[in-house]
Amino acid sequence: MNTMKRMLSLLMTFSVIFVSVAFFAPRTQAKTISSLKEEQSQIQAKIDESEKKLTSLNNQINSQEQVISELNKQLSNLSDEYNNVKMQKYVVDGEIAETQKKIEDLNAEIAKKDAEIEQTIQLFCKRLRANYMAGSSSTLEMLSNASSVSVFLNRLELLKRVTNNDQALVDELNKEINDLEKAKSDLEAEKLKLVQKQAELGKVEADLQSTLNAIKVKSEEVDRKLSQLQNTASEIHENIKDFDAQEAQIQKEINRIYAQQKAAEAAKRRAQQQQQANKNNNNSGASYYTPKPNPSTGFAFPVHYSGCYLSSGFGYRSASISGNAFHGGIDITGGNIYGQPVIASRSGTVIVAEHYSNSGYGHYVMLDHGDGYQTLYGHCSSVVVNKGDYVKQGQVIAYVGSTGNSTGPHLHFEVRYQGEKLNPLNYVSF
Ligand SMILES: [Zn+2]
Repeated sequence: MNTMKRMLSLLMTFSVIFVSVAFFAPRTQAKTISSLKEEQSQIQAKIDESEKKLTSLNNQINSQEQVISELNKQLSNLSDEYNNVKMQKYVVDGEIAETQKKIEDLNAEIAKKDAEIEQTIQLFCKRLRANYMAGSSSTLEMLSNASSVSVFLNRLELLKRVTNNDQALVDELNKEINDLEKAKSDLEAEKLKLVQKQAELGKVEADLQSTLNAIKVKSEEVDRKLSQLQNTASEIHENIKDFDAQEAQIQKEINRIYAQQKAAEAAKRRAQQQQQANKNNNNSGASYYTPKPNPSTGFAFPVHYSGCYLSSGFGYRSASISGNAFHGGIDITGGNIYGQPVIASRSGTVIVAEHYSNSGYGHYVMLDHGDGYQTLYGHCSSVVVNKGDYVKQGQVIAYVGSTGNSTGPHLHFEVRYQGEKLNPLNYVSF
């Protein structure tokens, strides 16, 4: 039973550890180059596809534009024809009105002539009646009472002339009326022809109008289709621009990672050469840089690189990075800091030289200065001194890196007095 309990408690401990490890598993490295390249090729495929769509859309737009220009040509031809027909119709309308006016004038003239004839006939009849009435008593008498044959003949001649005159007048009038009637019927015939022509032109006009309307409807439809196509094309253009921007962003990230890798490799090479040189010279060939000690404390700035700046200060800070809110030193970084020499802040003895460490400090060095002060140099890419070495202020002891619990190239620098961590900014000058 006891064994069982122990095993169970062991199991519990195990699972707690397991859970903790899983929980504090290292954050995934931002993005690898291969995943970025994969992303980039997916975007490129989208761009290719969009461009293919765009080409096909442009073809459609061109063909629609051809249709529109063809329709416009037809429209303009038909419009000319339509205007021509309208003009003809206008002319015919004028001719009809003119003919109508002529017919009315003729009618008036005929009526006038009719009245004249009527009057002449009435006058003639009146005279005849007067003569005949007088005939029994007066015409015959007038003739028989003629005193001589010559007088009789003169009177008869006179009577005949009066009658002949009337007859000639009536004939003349009748002839005029006939002429007028003929002219009138000619005009009526002409008018009939014009009216027929007018009707034909009206029909042609209506046909043209309906053709024009149909073409206009078609043309509007094509216009709508065209503007839809153009909208789609410009949307695709926008998409391609977005894709291009995304791709450029990814390329930038890839370039940045490449540059970082290159810098890291160069620094590693430099460090290896340095280590080799140090070994060959049995440490007598150690590198030095002229230190710049703080005049009041004697501590020199621990990195030989002019582009340094502070990325994190000493003291309490947000727990987001290490899970430990207290920061026991300062973090020194800079644009090109990876692989730059780390130098001893003061002369002293190497008490820690971790060349390959998985600790939070990564590869790191700790010096003891003999008067209660110690300094620590963390996250190095390589360490070039060994435990027990005596180093001089300004001597290269390591190179800046990003090992251990680090999110980017920097030097973690600590100053301790009798084991207590102090603010390094009170000892070194930036
Ligand atoms: Zn730090």
